[in-house]
Amino acid sequence: MALVTLRQALDEARRGGYAVGAFNVSDVVQAEAVLDAAAETASPTILAALAGVTAHASDERFWAGLHRLIDGYPELPVVLHLDHGPHPAVCLRAMDHGFTSVMIDGSLRADGTPSSFAENLAVTAEVAAEAHRRGVSVEGELGTIGGSKTDGSRAAIVLADPEQAGEFVAATGVDALAVAIGTSHGAYKFDTPPDSTVLHMTLIEKIAARVPDTHLVMHGSSSLPAELREQNNRHGARLPESWGVPDSEKVRSIAMGVRKINQGMDSHLAFTGAVREALGADPLNVDPAPYLRAGRAAMQRMVAARMRIFGQAGHAGDYRARSLTEMAVRYSGGNA
Ligand SMILES: [Zn+2]
Repeated sequence: MALVTLRQALDEARRGGYAVGAFNVSDVVQAEAVLDAAAETASPTILAALAGVTAHASDERFWAGLHRLIDGYPELPVVLHLDHGPHPAVCLRAMDHGFTSVMIDGSLRADGTPSSFAENLAVTAEVAAEAHRRGVSVEGELGTIGGSKTDGSRAAIVLADPEQAGEFVAATGVDALAVAIGTSHGAYKFDTPPDSTVLHMTLIEKIAARVPDTHLVMHGSSSLPAELREQNNRHGARLPESWGVPDSEKVRSIAMGVRKINQGMDSHLAFTGAVREALGADPLNVDPAPYLRAGRAAMQRMVAARMRIFGQAGHAGDYRARSLTEMAVRYSGGNA
């Protein structure tokens, strides 16, 4: 049994003074890349999936495949995490399918406008109560992280308010809190290298001081390496120049208290760049296996490198995976 909760993984990360990367996957080939990177570096791992975003015929088939795959890595602590659950019903569906952690993103209303603090708090508390009853961890979001949302629309950045963080955590009991500090989702983040007017890193320290028992999460943390963009563009893509979050800022955020770092886009750039290159290199090939293998290997290399930078490498063996039943007992005691 390799599954652990997000609370377990991030408590361990705090003890060890590192962060755990949450790597988005949308099929089992990408999940294999992340898990092989974790095995290669002996890392605890967060596999993150968005509902409704998969190459498989349905979420349920994809999620069943993830469980079968994870079973093959019994030595690794793995969090199976729902990224950006837009409604309580989606979070419940993920819990029913064995996710050990769910994010409820109450930052936006159904029409894409920012939720009020009270609306966000209410929907997050509802999900947290049910998740903790089941021994599942919960991540909430304070403020609004910019960039592309799952429905393709663009959200404006609303920075997290440290004053509200304490109230939000006290009322909801979330295990982890995504804090909007200026990062964006997607392949187009910043028009210039980000500085302190764009990335508000000191917000992390202010919020961490107010919620000492809750783990902070940085979303939209891909670096968007120029060499990966150029590799894609050499082989048919037309990605405009854009800057992401430099590794140095991620390392700084860990020192300030960030314990979970979300990055999906760098994996996409690595996987798709390698697929484009492999297809271009062999115009007579029609077999999917060679180019998917190239994509998987490139993604594994990128994820393994990030696991070393985040400090999670080498920590897989630190903790005995407690069973979810034991976690449930702990939660009912801690959040009564
Ligand atoms: Zn996100």
